[in-house]
Amino acid sequence: MINDKNSQKIVDIIRNYARKHSLWILAYGTGCGAIELPPTMTSRYDAERLGVRGAATPRQADLLLITGYLTTKSLKRVIRVYEQMQDPKYVIGFGSCTINGGMYWDSYNTIKALDRYLPVDVYINGCMPRPEAVLSGFAKLQELIQDGKANGAKEYKENLKWYRDNQKKVITNWKMPEYNW
Ligand code: SF4
Repeated sequence: MINDKNSQKIVDIIRNYARKHSLWILAYGTGCGAIELPPTMTSRYDAERLGVRGAATPRQADLLLITGYLTTKSLKRVIRVYEQMQDPKYVIGFGSCTINGGMYWDSYNTIKALDRYLPVDVYINGCMPRPEAVLSGFAKLQELIQDGKANGAKEYKENLKWYRDNQKKVITNWKMPEYNW
């Protein structure tokens, strides 16, 4: 017999299946790793067959890709872009620079750990990650979405104060509208 609980479960499975196969990406390509995106998206590796494709604006995007090092100056724009995206939304940190600063670990003007500022759902290791690694990162995110475990956006809302405090330590001229859910 199908009760309310079971029918909700079925709806979740179908919804997550649809979400994982329609990942529209907004690529923030300031880092050198961005050069691996064209081969990933075009005919050789063809990420679109997995339902991954580009989006024109934050409002249309589901997935924010930070492709490499992020400067303290760019961080403000990236936060603004992320907060303009609609739920459900996900973040992938792409390349070693997003994980621990990579080869810019002692640079004065890059951030060292993206997940202190934005909720990263999946990291893709490497400097720079080849398209195979990028596809594997997309597949990992899809797996998390299907299992209902890609909850970065929820975690961001729940811990907004912690994120804001970290963000404001880096961004000294904070003049942005507050995120309005
Ligand atoms: S991880 Fe390597 S390839 Fe990617 S932005 Fe950093 S230095 Fe460049």
